[in-house]
Amino acid sequence: MIELSNRVSKVTPSSTLAITAKAKELKASGLDVIGLGAGEPDFNTPENIIQAAYRSMEEGHTKYTPAGGQAELKKAIIGKFKRDQGLDYNASEIIVTNGAKHALYTLFQVILNDGDEVIIPTPYWVSYPEQVKLAGGEPVFIDGEEANHFKITGRQLEEAITSKTKAVIINSPSNPTGMIYSREELAEIGEVCKVHNILIISDEIYEKLLYDGYDHVSIAQLSPELKELTVIINGVSKSHSMTGWRIGYAAGNERIIKAMTDVASHSTSNPTTTSQYGAIEAYTGTQEPVEKMRQAFEKRMNIIHEKLTNIPGVSCLKPQGAFYLYPNVKEAAENSGFDDVDSFVQALLEEALVAVVPGSSFGSPENIRLSYAASLELLEEAVNRIHSFVESKR
Ligand code: PLP
Repeated sequence: MIELSNRVSKVTPSSTLAITAKAKELKASGLDVIGLGAGEPDFNTPENIIQAAYRSMEEGHTKYTPAGGQAELKKAIIGKFKRDQGLDYNASEIIVTNGAKHALYTLFQVILNDGDEVIIPTPYWVSYPEQVKLAGGEPVFIDGEEANHFKITGRQLEEAITSKTKAVIINSPSNPTGMIYSREELAEIGEVCKVHNILIISDEIYEKLLYDGYDHVSIAQLSPELKELTVIINGVSKSHSMTGWRIGYAAGNERIIKAMTDVASHSTSNPTTTSQYGAIEAYTGTQEPVEKMRQAFEKRMNIIHEKLTNIPGVSCLKPQGAFYLYPNVKEAAENSGFDDVDSFVQALLEEALVAVVPGSSFGSPENIRLSYAASLELLEEAVNRIHSFVESKR
């Protein structure tokens, strides 16, 4: 038997994928399970994007592209940054990757030495700590307290910094909490990063999904110094419902981007050519479908949020963005006779046939994550089931 590497033995598999797999297994056995674990929009990719990708293949664009992405796509991304955020980037400061996930993975590979620390606010997206560990780094968690809308403060960041700190991750709008950092909160964090020369990794993948009039501000917009200190991570997966196309990108300092491109040239060669053509259309074509999907998410969220908070022992901050609700269910779990939220979630799946992700997967064990990337009808049925389950156990 061949021993696995030390590096890989530290990695835990994605719990969100595990829950989705378990829900599918129960469904395949004939049970009427509702899965709210998924992290992808339930809409099809807009037709103009599909057509553009199709045309590109017919026109013969089926070969390798430059490792860091097509010039035309980089131009479209540069145009998007300028239009949406007033940010100026050159092509040498952009790399197109196989999804935002791989932009992050490659970034950690090029910035971390063994033992370097990356500060990750909790609750966090499940892949951040694992990717840091895979690059030899150490994740350092700071508690984004529920009382502070799951966000960290400049002071907390300052206290967590050591001589080994290399970077901090800011994910706004956040998966799993749906919270957004304000300009002022970002400025406070930015000041600390400037003083200690800490790289800011700004994951803005949910940028287009904003509700109740909330705005998205990138920390890179606050000053030229902060722009220089920031690598923005983004992509078309969530904004244009293109999860399976695998197109993401990173924008930042030229030296970092070049190193990432060198790694890509030896690992992926390039993001799928056809998908790159789809992404060009996503950014240069009509943005109407993006807004339509946003409106659908907002409508669902408003209805479901209210229903959810009517369940005894459940409290939930109203999401400002993304497509997740992140209720605190500690009291509901206790009142239902469970020792912890993990066993409550397990029973929800087995007895109420609703799959949600336990907050322990995101570093906050009192919460659960429900994705509202499902039809309103299914969402209402799922919340009714949770409500009846909690009532039946009291
Ligand atoms: N960042 C966050 C916070 C996410 O939730 C996700 C996907 O779930 C990603 C990055 C990765 O997105 P992509 O599908 O582009 O790899």
